Amino acid sequence: MSGLTYWAEYAWLPHANGPVVERDVLVTVGPGGRIAHVTPDSGPCPPGAVRLGGLLLPGRANAHSHAFHRALRGTVQVGSGTFWTWRDTMYRFAGALDPDSYLALATAVYAEMALSGITAVGEFHYLHHAPGGARYTDPNAMGHALVEAAARAGIRITLLDTCYLSAGFGADLTKPQLRFGDGDADAWAARADALKDTGHARIGAAVHSVRAVPADQLGTVAHWAAMRRAPLHVHLSEQTAENDACLTAHGVTPTRLLADHGVLGPRTSAVHATHLTDEDVRLLGDSSTTVCMCPTTERDLADGIGPARRLASSGCPISLGSDSHAVIDPFEEARALELNERLRTRTRGHWTAHALLRAGGEDGHASLGWPEAGRIEAGALADFTAVALDTVRTAGPGPQLGAETAVFAASAADVRHVVVGGRHIVRDGEHRLVPDVATALRTAIAALDA
Ligand SMILES: [Zn+2]
Repeated sequence: MSGLTYWAEYAWLPHANGPVVERDVLVTVGPGGRIAHVTPDSGPCPPGAVRLGGLLLPGRANAHSHAFHRALRGTVQVGSGTFWTWRDTMYRFAGALDPDSYLALATAVYAEMALSGITAVGEFHYLHHAPGGARYTDPNAMGHALVEAAARAGIRITLLDTCYLSAGFGADLTKPQLRFGDGDADAWAARADALKDTGHARIGAAVHSVRAVPADQLGTVAHWAAMRRAPLHVHLSEQTAENDACLTAHGVTPTRLLADHGVLGPRTSAVHATHLTDEDVRLLGDSSTTVCMCPTTERDLADGIGPARRLASSGCPISLGSDSHAVIDPFEEARALELNERLRTRTRGHWTAHALLRAGGEDGHASLGWPEAGRIEAGALADFTAVALDTVRTAGPGPQLGAETAVFAASAADVRHVVVGGRHIVRDGEHRLVPDVATALRTAIAALDA
């Protein structure tokens, strides 16, 4: 995809003194779907260029997703329950999926993501085998379905193939979990070895949690990721029950256990990190581990408010994920980081809009192993998202406040255009590859009959 030229009314661009909003920005796409030139103050939209109204942002990175959780939307809001009863419902839907139905569902979910401005997703994938644990003919049939779904929706994917071996410390998998398991970490690695990077897809690894991978096998997963120079993700301390069980089993916190087995580091992302000790924060910061916060899920599941600000100050890059897809809205996810901190501290001003855009952009892409994405500059991947500044939510503030308006007032519904690798996949709010995303979602979820 080269030779294309886009013209943005306004664009949020990197600058030596920090990001700035520029006007009349010409962005040309060169070979390999990368940005060839960025020219601010270029004058009116020239003939032949594609006009993108509103504020152009780097494409949004959704660093933590379980695509099938989208099927739970609404269903899990009836009555009360806990994280653990929510999980029982989630397992019911997990049990209903096969490679074909997952392809249909994930295509629709990733298309919803595209419409919300997301150009890359990190899919934390553990639904590997058939119900009961029988292997598909292609042992990676489910993972391949997710990679194909992202292609159909026009977005990038990092398939974080997840090692999931036990129900808890020293506990065998339960019946609904049998399809997650490979037996041991070596068998997991042998299966994951068969997954290959393609143009729109990169392969990473994940440790489901310290509950699900025995301590003596954590190093195998970490080593696999190190050998492939692949991202490594892990759910960490989302619930205090995990901390309590880890302390009972090993006498240390989950963070300490991961540190002692070589799981932390600059290619690693710890997801949630809600309930941490001061030492945990230091271990994560000192190792430059990214922390992926999922605020809309964490509040939905009553997890608590993670110490994102302290983690960032201690050296952790922060990324953002929609995780359970209670909603899919990268702007809501970003502002929640600041607004949660305001509620907790009763003071304002912990994160600037620019820092929040970076978390959902450059740092999110880096966390997914796409360091060449997340900036609108020459040489970067031509992935961007245009947010309208003239809707009922965004009209009023001047364009110089575009970043603040996008983060603190816009919603997914204000996204007008999405470009991935130079390809225009959302135009005027319409997905050009999946023409009726709402129907695709409804049909795919109804088919599960869970
Ligand atoms: Zn998760």
